[in-house]
Amino acid sequence: MGKVKAKKHLGQHFLNDQSIAQRIVESLTYPPESVLEVGPGMGVLTSFLVKRPTINLKLIEIDTESVDYLTEHFAKLKTNIIFGDFLKLDLNELFQQPISLIGNFPYNISGPIFFKVFENRHLIPQVVGMLQKEVAERIAAGPGTKTYGVLSVLLQAFYDIEYLFTVEPDVFIPPPKVRSGVIRLVRNQTEKLPCDEVLFVKVVKAIFNQRRKAIRNSLKSIDFNKEAMSDHDFLTRRPEQMSVADFITLTQLIQANPSLPNQE
Ligand code: SAH
Repeated sequence: MGKVKAKKHLGQHFLNDQSIAQRIVESLTYPPESVLEVGPGMGVLTSFLVKRPTINLKLIEIDTESVDYLTEHFAKLKTNIIFGDFLKLDLNELFQQPISLIGNFPYNISGPIFFKVFENRHLIPQVVGMLQKEVAERIAAGPGTKTYGVLSVLLQAFYDIEYLFTVEPDVFIPPPKVRSGVIRLVRNQTEKLPCDEVLFVKVVKAIFNQRRKAIRNSLKSIDFNKEAMSDHDFLTRRPEQMSVADFITLTQLIQANPSLPNQE
């Protein structure tokens, strides 16, 4: 069978550079036992992954044509290829053991992919992925930078994140309009944040949704006793000035100051 015809709506840009593919696969440093490759396409990463015999490899691919191609070229992996949408996959149901992720991700859904990583952090010890450079930078960005945002804070609370290297469009067929970046996320020691985690997510989202506003204004949607905290320095800060630790402290303060019964 011939090559897979690239489909734009599936974000298909096939990497056509063996040494970059090898470098991405070698970026899985802490030898993981089980690895799920997201969007293998024609298997450019897969061909290096199968050379690492200690890895128990699974693939998830949404495109039938790619699944046929993979089944033909990686016959041994046949039963390990899942035909489906990664975003709809119930990782907890499928995997009882920790599973690391790797992929040249479909760029149109890289945000949702990383939210899914955050939600399944207990199951995912490591992620190595190529995505649109801006999004890769955003995930790896620290406080004080323009790109620092919701995903940076949520993921950095649970992962050590490194921006590894940049990849130019001309090594893909067809070339994407944007540059690409490879990042690695390695789960840190934090099992649980020392605050209400659901509230933490709500606070981080509320604050970055109104990026230009002082935190005092962004917190209007959250129910707590604002009077008690009214002179706190956090309230006059900008979102990008808040470290992960600051967001945790802020969440703890909100928890410690519930709204008074007679407040509206
Ligand atoms: N890894 C290959 C292909 C990258 S293109 C390479 O480097 O050449 C992105 C791949 O993700 C495509 O094969 C596309 O079909 C697949 N894909 C897109 N959306 C997906 C989804 N929701 N779940 C699983 N795979 C998806």
